[in-house]
Amino acid sequence: METVGILAVQGAFIEHEHILHRLGAETVQLRQKSDLYKDFDRLVLPGGESTVQGKLLKDFGMSGILKEKIENGMPVLATCAGLILLAEKISNDTNAYFKTLPVTVKRNAYGRQLGSFHCDGIIKGLGRFPMEFIRAPYIEAAGSGVEVLAETDGKITAVRYKNQIGLSFHPELCEDDRLHRMFLNLSCSC
Ligand code: GLN
Repeated sequence: METVGILAVQGAFIEHEHILHRLGAETVQLRQKSDLYKDFDRLVLPGGESTVQGKLLKDFGMSGILKEKIENGMPVLATCAGLILLAEKISNDTNAYFKTLPVTVKRNAYGRQLGSFHCDGIIKGLGRFPMEFIRAPYIEAAGSGVEVLAETDGKITAVRYKNQIGLSFHPELCEDDRLHRMFLNLSCSC
């Protein structure tokens, strides 16, 4: 069984850990640079606050190593703030982090009133899926080679690009584990 490294500097990482354990995967929490030298074959970038996560990754000296792993084909599941960390461009923020996913995202794209909501959407290859949005980003533009997995009210909310799955919503907060299974079946693109 492969081991999943879960970024655990901030945010909703425990929920991913629970779901992955339920599916029989081993996990390791990535809290500091030395954790990146542990053995892991897949990566989860959880929800939380992308500005905080991005700053801590830089301060802890973790960004470069993780970016290289992603570029070398390590399968990644990124939810919400994690999606923002992967994005090549953030339309309403001057920051950008790993820039490994050729999409433009908009942070906090649903405004204050619709900051958090739940709906059912359709995910390509999976069908109906419960979607939990929490001050979520959506994807404004997707570059070539990016496969759109879901659109919600005309906005892209799930994509796959090579070894990377990026989601606006939080599948770790629902009982449905099919996206985590998809992630565990994603082959390394190295
Ligand atoms: N609003 C957060 C950000 O911009 C993301 C929210 C989340 O991960 N649930 O980083």
